[in-house]
Amino acid sequence: MNDCLFCKIVQGDIPAEKVFENDNVLAFKDINPQAPVHILVIPKNHYADISVLYNEEAALIVDIFEAVKKVTEKLYIDDSGFRVVVNKGTDAGQLVNHIHFHVLGGRKLEWPPG
Ligand code: 5GP
Ligand code: ZN
Repeated sequence: MNDCLFCKIVQGDIPAEKVFENDNVLAFKDINPQAPVHILVIPKNHYADISVLYNEEAALIVDIFEAVKKVTEKLYIDDSGFRVVVNKGTDAGQLVNHIHFHVLGGRKLEWPPG
């Protein structure tokens, strides 16, 4: 049995506010937003983290960044600016082991991150 939270969102077993999807990727609102716009873009298939996304998944990586573009346009942060973040592992604070690209915007974001 697959216990992955984000796989359950993909399957519709756990509700989420979707903002974009196609055959390969899904974008939905983060349940605990850290900015006025905080979207998670995920592949529909399970990948644990960014270390397993490389050459043979090149088409998927393009899909992910096309979704980022569509989401930022749809939510009107493409001009004002936004940040894309991927956490991998303990030091980065990855909590969900299904790769997700955070898209944050709608306010001035600080740098460096904490
Ligand atoms: P991480 O720390 O793994 O990079 O980020 C996990 C993100 O998933 C967090 O920002 C958290 O708020 C979000 N999250 C955790 N559980 C759920 C959920 O059930 N639904 C949604 N929409 N987001 C979630
Ligand atoms: Zn998963």
